[in-house]
Amino acid sequence: MQPFSYRNGALYVEGVALTVIAEEFGTPCYVYSRGGIEGAWRAFDSAFGSHPHLVCYAVKANGNLAVLNLLARLGSGFDIVSGGELERVLSAGGDPGKVVFSGVGKRADEMLRALEVGIHCFNIESLPELQRLDQIASRIKVRAPVAIRINPDVDAKTHPYIATGTNANKFGIPAREAEAVYAEAMDLAHIEVRGIAVHIGSQLTRLEPVLEALDQVLGLVARLDAQGIALRHIDIGGGLGIRYREESPPTPAAYAQAILTRLGGEPLSVITEPGRAVVGPNGVLLTRVEYLKDVEQRHFAIVDAAMNDLVRPALYDAWHDIVPVERRPGPERRYDIAGPVCESGDFLGSGRALNLSSGDVLAVCAAGAYGASMSSTYNTRPRAAEVLADGERIHLVRRRGTVQDLMREEVIPPG
Ligand SMILES: *Cc1c(COP(=O)(O)O)cnc(C)c1O
Repeated sequence: MQPFSYRNGALYVEGVALTVIAEEFGTPCYVYSRGGIEGAWRAFDSAFGSHPHLVCYAVKANGNLAVLNLLARLGSGFDIVSGGELERVLSAGGDPGKVVFSGVGKRADEMLRALEVGIHCFNIESLPELQRLDQIASRIKVRAPVAIRINPDVDAKTHPYIATGTNANKFGIPAREAEAVYAEAMDLAHIEVRGIAVHIGSQLTRLEPVLEALDQVLGLVARLDAQGIALRHIDIGGGLGIRYREESPPTPAAYAQAILTRLGGEPLSVITEPGRAVVGPNGVLLTRVEYLKDVEQRHFAIVDAAMNDLVRPALYDAWHDIVPVERRPGPERRYDIAGPVCESGDFLGSGRALNLSSGDVLAVCAAGAYGASMSSTYNTRPRAAEVLADGERIHLVRRRGTVQDLMREEVIPPG
């Protein structure tokens, strides 16, 4: 299904015109498509076919409870990177037995909670982390299921801020040290060695780096096997890219097929952790044009969404298509689309050919991943509303924040 499409010049999400949503819920507002999200998750799930597998949606891409609940009802697992994300999964009805816990800085209290609710696996990123987990598990007399996350030292060919698989970054354990860490893990009484994990980065548009990393991991699996350390699963991470502009990333089917081919007859079950590819294309950010302003040779459209709502353009110089929710005939100009935040880096797009008037509503496309979840309240801007479209129905899944929300935790000392 096509979650967003024009009908007679008006942009729709599923069966509802986005202008209607902008009127009813105001702007800025994130809009997600239920059908789009479910279809993307199913594409991953069916791509692995009858091979034993678990699709663990990466919560950090979009942790809205409504989104997590949709996926939980499809039987999804979840990849979390904090205790907070674990609580979101539990609140949304997710199965803790399908949760994998990634991240380099797991705190003791987060480990304890994850052990208490019985998560599927901890992806361990350092020896001290493994030792701490063993101690905490011994306190409550359980064995902690673990996979060791390998840093395969491959170049993911993506933006440096979202590449995680080279030796120059903080993630995982270098492949050459991994055997020693596995040996140590086997000796720890409260650790149960289950698998191996790798995640080389995000917005990957080519399969080669993924397969290169996989080959390294499979080599390690064979060496461990020869030492009597038999693993049950391989976690290949997430990172499959989406089309923001001209990219043509592999489909989930091509991705899964390449991985299963590489695995050959290995009896390992597969965990995959897609985030962006599940939600990214299935959300837009609606924003209204406040002012048109000409400076020197440039045309600015000042809109009511800003870098606090969607930071990707400012942070990664990322491209998002920006389109009118109602097409109007007439001459276009090249606009820089900028928000009200007091930073020159506060822009959503530059040089965009549009025919605009003040009051028009624009859709910033492919904003379902790392949009709302990376938003902040900088400049004391309350968080945007979020809505979920389901056919002809629209559900408010996060009410617009208020300034009172923002000041609630602050205290003026006496005197
Ligand atoms: C961020 C992350 C993911 C998800 O990445 P996407 O690019 O959104 O698919 C998966 N696994 C780990 C360990 C991550 O850090």
